[in-house]
Amino acid sequence: MAIPFFQKARIGAYVLRQHLAGRQRYPLVLMLEPLFRCNLACAGCGKIDYPENILDRRLSVGECLDAVDDCGAPVVSIAGGEPLLHKEIDAIVAGIVERRKFVYLCTNALLLQKRLRLFEPSRYFVWSVHLDGDREMHDRSVCEEGVYTRAAAAIAAAKARGFRVNINCTLFNDANAERVAQFFDEAHSLGVDGITVSPGYAYERAPDQAHFLTRTNTKRLFRDILRRGRGSRAWSFSQSSLFLDFLAGNQEYRCTPWGNPTRNVFGWQRPCYLLGEGYASSFRELMDETDWDAYGTGNYEKCANCMVHSGYEATAVIDAVRHPIKALKVGALGVRTDGPMAPEISLSSQRPAEFTFSSNVERELAKIRVTERRTEPSTSA
Ligand code: SF4
Repeated sequence: MAIPFFQKARIGAYVLRQHLAGRQRYPLVLMLEPLFRCNLACAGCGKIDYPENILDRRLSVGECLDAVDDCGAPVVSIAGGEPLLHKEIDAIVAGIVERRKFVYLCTNALLLQKRLRLFEPSRYFVWSVHLDGDREMHDRSVCEEGVYTRAAAAIAAAKARGFRVNINCTLFNDANAERVAQFFDEAHSLGVDGITVSPGYAYERAPDQAHFLTRTNTKRLFRDILRRGRGSRAWSFSQSSLFLDFLAGNQEYRCTPWGNPTRNVFGWQRPCYLLGEGYASSFRELMDETDWDAYGTGNYEKCANCMVHSGYEATAVIDAVRHPIKALKVGALGVRTDGPMAPEISLSSQRPAEFTFSSNVERELAKIRVTERRTEPSTSA
């Protein structure tokens, strides 16, 4: 089972507690990015084009654990950048596990075998290895030969040491349903416990803008893939059945950007993991002072094609807790892959995109310079 019963029960109980407390907005997964630096340069990445002194920044262990405590989400996904480049990543993971939060450490796995001895298997800890398809698909996606082979070897090494290992797979518009289905079979033969799959988000700074999926194409692609796997039942997904149902066009969901709040070296990112349109200095400020209604498909041009798990998985989980019979039915019978799709959200009233990336970076660079000046040793003495 990709998500053990113990974990499902803990998360379900957390969601239920939020509902009973009457909370309208609450986090489910903290997206923690302790650094942006990576040892790959993937064409679809929206993180690695920052200036050098931003790429050199790291969140400290204390900053990471404060973010975990302030946010309170039951799950923490550590992303980046490549988290294994952070010298204290083992202490960050250990601190989160100690708090009995479920940690998913997302990695391209190039350093996984080297760093494996720093970590201990735990029911709270999962390696989430980035694999965008079979050998050819993945190496093309990450723009480097041989990465798939190294990731597969790292998965085997982690499994041999008793770790839970998932893969996270991002699909673009060149994905071929038959090949993706074969790859999901192959992933299980590599020994992975679960698959997380999502369409890519068209980051405005991603070097390759031509290969992102539209919502209509995403739904068609996922129907074509899931049809080849008995409506998803042939594979072990580390995702809710209703999120897969949404990807196949059967649910009319709105995103839940506060469900996956993001803490990175700039602060708390507004409004979501995918869009960096400003930063709050605290989790409370993020939740209380973000104009949430200004975002989401139908509200904002940059959200028009988004169906990404960091925006919609929380919506699906909350729906599953509210409508458990519906979720169980999809889980047991599989995702419907034919028939009419749920109505699409109208884009007629969406506000135009604002391109804030450069001004955000400039502002953050200015802050870094001030901090650096303050911490420089005085030369006047
Ligand atoms: S639709 Fe929601 S999750 Fe997607 S980019 Fe917009 S605000 Fe973020």
